[in-house]
Amino acid sequence: MGRVQGKMAFITGGAQGLGEAIGKMLAKEGAKVTLTDVNGAGAEKVAAEINAAHGEGTAFAFQHDVTDEARWQEVLNAAHEAMGGINILVNNAGIGSLGSVEDENYDTFKKVQTVDVDSIFLGCKYAIPLMRAHGLGSIINISSIAGIIASANYVSYNTAKAAVRHISKSIALHCAKGGQIRCNSVHPVFINTPILDRTKEMFGEEEALAKLGRQIPLGKVGEPDDIAYAVLYLASDESKLVTGIELKVDGGISA
Ligand code: NAD
Repeated sequence: MGRVQGKMAFITGGAQGLGEAIGKMLAKEGAKVTLTDVNGAGAEKVAAEINAAHGEGTAFAFQHDVTDEARWQEVLNAAHEAMGGINILVNNAGIGSLGSVEDENYDTFKKVQTVDVDSIFLGCKYAIPLMRAHGLGSIINISSIAGIIASANYVSYNTAKAAVRHISKSIALHCAKGGQIRCNSVHPVFINTPILDRTKEMFGEEEALAKLGRQIPLGKVGEPDDIAYAVLYLASDESKLVTGIELKVDGGISA
């Protein structure tokens, strides 16, 4: 019996990195999963790997830009039909940007807010009514340690990921009224996914990971499963009394 046996999860940004690891972890622990991504072919590839490992009908994939309101409604309805319901929503898709308030271009600033924050508003707005029909539900929003600790050259990302903290708490309190749906945010430190490719290009892979690892008290960059395990806990009924928290998976950097 898996830790999320029989549950039905909708995961954005599922084509690679954390979304891929979360999808594979939840499927391994007994859930049906729908992976969506602006890179639809990438999401389909991951879903095919999950189905090969756990049986056809375990995973589904859709092309989906999380900034597109109409598409949110289409893919949620399609996932609801394909899986027979939705009771876990993982808002994982996100982008970053390096730049200080003086260097950053306004369009980039707005784009980061739209992808990282508006997506969560839209996903929750349209998923919660579908989730209410299926008993206990869990929403997990992937923020970042950058939503807690600011840096001079992360103005867009700091702003967006801090907003993810608070939108999660507002949604947690709204959903708490019914007693069934919980909402929490997860705050990863540097995790070895393609999001670090630019840093690796700048310093070389080994030096980039070492450089980032030196900033973390536990001494190393995380792996995608470090976050997938945190999401698994929040997605499962093991955390049924946990809502409105910020789960930091950060190697001690914020201690
Ligand atoms: P990644 O870049 O490897 O993957 C992100 C995925 O999101 C990609 O598949 C991309 O195609 C998709 N995506 C981007 N824009 C989209 C859009 N508009 N609509 C739909 N899909 C879109 O990144 P990752 O490391 O897997 O990061 C996942 C989440 O975790 C992000 O929200 C990121 O901010 C957060 N995070 C990552 C780290 C890290 O170090 N890896 C640390 C803290 C937080």
